[in-house]
Amino acid sequence: TTKIRIGIAGYGNLGRGVESALAQNGDMELVGVFTRREPGQLKLLGNAPVLHIDDIGQYQGKIDVLILCGGSKNDLPEQGPALAALFNTVDSFDTHAKVPEYFEAVNQSAEPAGNTAIISVGWDPGLFSLNRLFGEAVLPEGATYTFWGKGLSQGHSDAVRRVPGVKAGVQYTLPVPEAVERVRNGELPQLSTREKHKRECFVVLQEGADAAAVEQAIVTMPDYFADYDTTVNFLDEETLRRDHEAMPHGGFVIRSGTTGQGNTQVVEYSLKLQSNPEFTASVLVAYARAAHRLNQMGQAGAKSVLDVPPGLLSPKSAAQLRKELL
Ligand code: NAP
Repeated sequence: TTKIRIGIAGYGNLGRGVESALAQNGDMELVGVFTRREPGQLKLLGNAPVLHIDDIGQYQGKIDVLILCGGSKNDLPEQGPALAALFNTVDSFDTHAKVPEYFEAVNQSAEPAGNTAIISVGWDPGLFSLNRLFGEAVLPEGATYTFWGKGLSQGHSDAVRRVPGVKAGVQYTLPVPEAVERVRNGELPQLSTREKHKRECFVVLQEGADAAAVEQAIVTMPDYFADYDTTVNFLDEETLRRDHEAMPHGGFVIRSGTTGQGNTQVVEYSLKLQSNPEFTASVLVAYARAAHRLNQMGQAGAKSVLDVPPGLLSPKSAAQLRKELL
């Protein structure tokens, strides 16, 4: 059998993660990494060729699925629709509020080209979305709770680093244990933003900066911190590098509901990730397999994880899955 030929568009944390995930999937091979930077600048983990993204058109017919590893904020809104006109694609677009318009834009270019484009793949959106769907569909009377963390939040870390007087820093999101316990007990609590999560910052000050002023600027920052209980810890640059280089994340989706004469049912799906980008990349690779198969079945256009039959994610046949996993 021939391998599924994969391309990577964009080589950051996620791109590197996809490269290493492909090494764990024997039915796929990496054709090349495409970048907007000077290709000679990039140092890959393995020895696949690095090419400039402007030359990607020449690879039509040589790549079965292109995995888009650009950022959701600035890269994917442009690259998603443009590249879905040329290839089957999978991406991890995670700006939840803009998913409907992104889906439309990708669909408009993928469908007429006969390509299959699975958007918003990863864990949230992604595997968490699936679990929210299972919860709601199976327990119509109840509530769904998503908790994130403990995890490093890229967006909130960026916001901390923009505060005047901050030299470097990271931000962790943490679920509030009391809130999680109440949900797990089936209490169906109404929880405010502040009651669900807290935020913890680790900050290196610029020389001469006023720690109290920096702390005040962070904890009162609208949208990012004002609605949360936030603690700010100061540390030196070396400690930051030593203790806060990893990109852990995780969280849980809990559906709590009642059936029959008031029997409580609680369903929980949980992730504990030492590397957020490597896990997200592993999900992207499994969905690339599904994108290839959907396309072979003639199902073109944009899809989300909610539209993909789960068996298509596995390298095993439907018959083998029925025998081994059902
Ligand atoms: P990143 O490291 O910042 O990479 C984004 C892009 O920036 C790369 O594709 C790369 O494009 C460019 N880049 C990377 N390193 C660079 C450097 N040193 N200098 C210049 N350009 C560089 O972002 P990421 O951590 O891979 O995350 C990508 C996206 O994944 C995030 O925006 C997030 O939305 C999404 N995500 C989704 C989930 C989910 O569960 N759905 C989970 C995690 C992340 P070029 O190679 O073309 O320059």
